[in-house]
Amino acid sequence: MVILVTGASGQLGQSIQHIAPSYTDLQFIFASSQDLDITNQDRINHFFEHNKIDFCINTAAYTAVDKAEMEMERAEAINVFGPKYLAVACKNNNAKLIHISTDFVFDGSAEKPYSEADKTNPLGVYGKTKLEGEQAVIDHCSAYFIIRTSWVYSLFGNNFMKTMLRLASERDTLSIVSDQIGSPTNAVDLAKALLSIVKSDNSEYGIYNFSNEGIASWYDFAKEIFRVNGINIEVNPIPTEAFPTPAKRPKYSVLDKSKIKKNFKIEIKSWQEALQQTT
Ligand code: NDP
Repeated sequence: MVILVTGASGQLGQSIQHIAPSYTDLQFIFASSQDLDITNQDRINHFFEHNKIDFCINTAAYTAVDKAEMEMERAEAINVFGPKYLAVACKNNNAKLIHISTDFVFDGSAEKPYSEADKTNPLGVYGKTKLEGEQAVIDHCSAYFIIRTSWVYSLFGNNFMKTMLRLASERDTLSIVSDQIGSPTNAVDLAKALLSIVKSDNSEYGIYNFSNEGIASWYDFAKEIFRVNGINIEVNPIPTEAFPTPAKRPKYSVLDKSKIKKNFKIEIKSWQEALQQTT
């Protein structure tokens, strides 16, 4: 089975590359943005015509949440048209598509974990373009899995954990937002879940949620990052209003994982246990 991974230099792409050697029965093509620009439909069609692809995992995205507010067209090209072109190519070449989406499709007004069927209402350009990207996939192919995830971190690329570790080496105290609640996701655990889907031969297509288990605020997450890394630093909780950002973020974005656990028999670690894997 041949799997094309787009956006292969990003943190999820690198996490898939990290575990790929253990999957000796799968053949991977890792394509960075330089190798395959997903906004170039001719290039995608050409790529699919010249490589026999069974599965495409689209990890490519415009992920700069705040910058997206000023770069709407670029965010739209990558997060909406990119997935659309991949969906069309998958359909024309009999390949299945796994497309990654986000908790930012929700407005955060819920009081219990979001199921895949709950009403979406993105607060900013990033979430809006990601939601439109989901719809483009649904409209242009039928063999798709859309995986919504949240608060992704790893030893690769840029993410909250690496920012915290850098800041801790520069400062004595940190103030971290404590009134946004979600679930951290170790990108390697997400990568394993994606490959479980690839290997499952299950064709219950649709939208699925995945994150690690449990809930946290960014403040809780930061404290645990410092604890597991043996870093002694003063961390103060602050409200969202004390840390204004161009893009509004959901106050609550915990995802209900029952569907993916049931359909793919995936066991999910707590976020605290998953965080230990990075030390
Ligand atoms: P990264 O920003 O680390 O990686 C995204 C990758 O996409 C980069 O390597 C980038 O390449 C590539 N890319 C950008 N534009 C294009 C293009 N036109 N063609 C091909 N590749 C392109 O993101 P993550 O790995 O963290 O995110 C993976 C997925 O998870 C995304 O769909 C994201 O929306 C979703 N997600 C992420 C969360 C997080 O906290 N990080 C939370 C929830 C969902 P280059 O750097 O060369 O531009």
